[in-house]
Amino acid sequence: MSDWDTVLAVYWALWAADGLRRAPRRIFHAVGGWRPGRARLRFARFIWLGVSPARWRAAAPDIPFSFSPLGISNRPAGTAGRPANPPREAAAWRWDEIREVGVAAGWVYVNGQRFFPDTGHLSGVQLLELARAQPAAREEMIRQHLQRWLRPAQVRRRAIVLAGRTNSPALFNALSLGLIAGLSAYVAFGVSQRVSAEWAAALARMLPPLLAYLALLHVAAVVMAWQAVRRLKRPGADKRGSTLLGALMLPAQALRLRAVVAEGFFPPQHPLAVALALGRRREQVELAFQTLADLRWPTDDRHDSPLAREIAGWFRSALEPELAARLKAAQLRPKQLLAPPRPDSPASCAYCPRCGDQFTSAGGACPHGIGLVPLGRRR
Ligand SMILES: [Zn+2]
Repeated sequence: MSDWDTVLAVYWALWAADGLRRAPRRIFHAVGGWRPGRARLRFARFIWLGVSPARWRAAAPDIPFSFSPLGISNRPAGTAGRPANPPREAAAWRWDEIREVGVAAGWVYVNGQRFFPDTGHLSGVQLLELARAQPAAREEMIRQHLQRWLRPAQVRRRAIVLAGRTNSPALFNALSLGLIAGLSAYVAFGVSQRVSAEWAAALARMLPPLLAYLALLHVAAVVMAWQAVRRLKRPGADKRGSTLLGALMLPAQALRLRAVVAEGFFPPQHPLAVALALGRRREQVELAFQTLADLRWPTDDRHDSPLAREIAGWFRSALEPELAARLKAAQLRPKQLLAPPRPDSPASCAYCPRCGDQFTSAGGACPHGIGLVPLGRRR
């Protein structure tokens, strides 16, 4: 029996590890479940999808650069994540300086220098297209990219299609998970030794058909997930087919098939667009506030070159009206989002408009270097 205990321990360890998702740095992850078109946003480097086979994840990193008709800089602007993980010192290129672009080990390189994390927002090819475009056409191309990253309606539609196409494999997975958990408990608690001899014999007879049924469920679920992968095309290199083949061989990795299908299925977006599409109101308000605050009160850019600052400035002025339109559609008002907070103690007299922290002395700056704003007394 102890051999079986080991097999089960390995099985469940593999199952638990299969639910881990890792990002190179802290980013937003949208994690959905049984409810179509709904997800929760988490800002983390590692997440665990949880027990439910209905869970899926979409990575939603911030746009890691800013660009303008003048050039491109690795100083992000309008980020929703906190801390924002900005580069210590921004690098910037004018478009006509860009000779070669490469992507390696999760980074985009420009002229041989590591430039910004490869989040999928702008591929190497698209970056080169921008560099080689006629100056007159470039601004329009840049604005089109901006709009491409702010499409809550498209994200929502995709989430609903994903839920529909993967409902059956998720249900099959749930059934398998329940049966395997029951079998594990049967073995782990030594049920066969605790019941009468007749019961033990009856249970032993049930075991082979049950295992055959589990094998059938497993194969059927993987085949259905494979059909979903073929229908739900994703841009870029698609490794989901080989992941499914691996899951077919190693059943412990076949209990989150919806998550396999979802991997890379969502186009790169601004995290706020994902929150507006799938998140709860509280998450929408939080991300909208953080994005707007980063646009209005940027940090860490004091030592950037004039070129980097000019590029980021243009980017902010182009991004804000696009965001404002999406916020308006979601009935979120920037003025309300950025309104002064209620004093959290009678002594509070100033606050930082970027992080919302309150202070008992007016004047000066918050630890991020943002000038404090007097806190209006409310009756
Ligand atoms: Zn602050």
